[in-house]
Amino acid sequence: MLTKMVAPELFRPPVEFPDVPYDHLLRKTAEQYPERTAIIYHDLYFTYREVVSMVNSVANGMHELGLRKGERICLFTTNRPEYTVTFIAAATLGLVVSPMNPAYKEREVAYQLENSEASAILVQRELVPILQLALNNTKLPHLKHIFVTGSQAPESLPEAIPLSQLIRNSAPTYQKHTDITSDDLLALPYSSGTTGLPKGTMLTHRNMTTNNLQFTTALQTNPNDVALIFLPFYHIYGVMLMGGFLACGATQVQMERFDLVQSLELCERHNVTYYFAVPPIVLALANAPIDLGKMKSVKYIFSGAAPLPMDPTRRLKEKTGINVVQGYGLTETSPLTHSQPKDPALVRTESVGLPVHNTEIKIMDIETGERELPLGETGEIVIRGPQVMKGYWKAPEETARVLRDGWLYTGDVGYLDAEGYTYIVDRKKEMIKYKGFGVAPAELESLLMEHPAVMDSAVIGVPDDEAGELIKGFVVLRPGQNATPDEIMTFANGKLAGYKRFHFIEQIDALPKTASGKILRRELKEREKALKLAQ
Ligand code: AMP
Repeated sequence: MLTKMVAPELFRPPVEFPDVPYDHLLRKTAEQYPERTAIIYHDLYFTYREVVSMVNSVANGMHELGLRKGERICLFTTNRPEYTVTFIAAATLGLVVSPMNPAYKEREVAYQLENSEASAILVQRELVPILQLALNNTKLPHLKHIFVTGSQAPESLPEAIPLSQLIRNSAPTYQKHTDITSDDLLALPYSSGTTGLPKGTMLTHRNMTTNNLQFTTALQTNPNDVALIFLPFYHIYGVMLMGGFLACGATQVQMERFDLVQSLELCERHNVTYYFAVPPIVLALANAPIDLGKMKSVKYIFSGAAPLPMDPTRRLKEKTGINVVQGYGLTETSPLTHSQPKDPALVRTESVGLPVHNTEIKIMDIETGERELPLGETGEIVIRGPQVMKGYWKAPEETARVLRDGWLYTGDVGYLDAEGYTYIVDRKKEMIKYKGFGVAPAELESLLMEHPAVMDSAVIGVPDDEAGELIKGFVVLRPGQNATPDEIMTFANGKLAGYKRFHFIEQIDALPKTASGKILRRELKEREKALKLAQ
């Protein structure tokens, strides 16, 4: 139905992408451009040849230690070449990579190690104390290997193997240790999905290989491009940028975390052509009281992960003359499903663009998900394509709820216009988006319930111009208890990574619930809206 409506110049025709294991993309570009710079990190420059050599050494070393296809490895580091090398080495061996947020506290680290049944972890040296707390307090019978960044094992964790040692001591030549098919699992990033606790999202080699190529084909990147990547590698958006730019022979400048001034310095120093952002960063650039002249080499500012506010987008465009475009996707779709056309005349800024190659979309009725709606009508966005995940890790019911006949029910609400552009207008799933980061209300609710005074709890996102949403908790106290909201907030926030922390906690007498006991978060959201309007 959709393809007939899309104007012919906008339609992205099917493309036959190579159906190869993930590491083959890097190996192919390294054959083509061995001496081109693949990664810049601080003052270190790595050519494609060097990256592949390090990947081979790490893969050979890990194989020697006994790591085998199908086992999980968590990567607990900030953006850095060691992350990239270990990710692709793991892919070479058929291991499944589960990226972990370096801001995590021990409780969160233990949950992911335990839930993924990881047999190995790469930990950044500075994060060893957090890992140790997790190891001391949780039984992790699956965990057999700890790798640490740098060249020395920390005194407190002498059994950890420094990554440099693996690179130094193992052969840099490619050895095929195992057969990998495109249907084999490659990654297990955690996402809140549509409901419940964070779940591992099972992405295959085909999912991620294809999505790297869907991304580079839609954006028409080329080997002369230079991408600035501060978006975190523990989120699938960062992983796609890392893999996509390696796949097309371009150069990527890796930054540990976003810093506006430093990002501008790096744009100027390395002639950055692609600047990847999330909406709060677009806002920060639009409002920055400094000259953005250092961005003059930048051709595109690309925003994803959350709705892009229009006013700062227009101001940023006016201020810099750079195209600011948004894309859309989910962890469950590896992540990219939509992007704007390359031609500025065809960009519809308020939309998330058009489906990338080989991707189908339909809009289904929100309540039942069973009736397809015509163009222009608002409903749930449903996607099909080679980038759609295999399912959720150890969660068959959740998988069956969102994956029906190969179509992914995104939990996002939107519509298609007459030209086929997609507009996102709401989110029906529970997920809260704080500065582009997904937060699962169920995780925060169960943490609130760990406070001895709390009998019941609910968590919602409340709209905020800068962050997209802020996190608000509601608590019902046990009879006779008198803990204050501030005390409860201090208790909870001490156990959470920064982006999941509460901004408000309110005590209420009872939570709105359905007859079956399900929390009516929608009602709490409406209540917040009404209170705001009344102010
Ligand atoms: P995540 O799994 O963390 O990547 O979150 C995916 C969710 O982020 C989507 O289901 C949307 O709710 C939201 N999202 C991503 N990109 C956009 C966008 N451009 N506009 C609106 N929401 C977005």
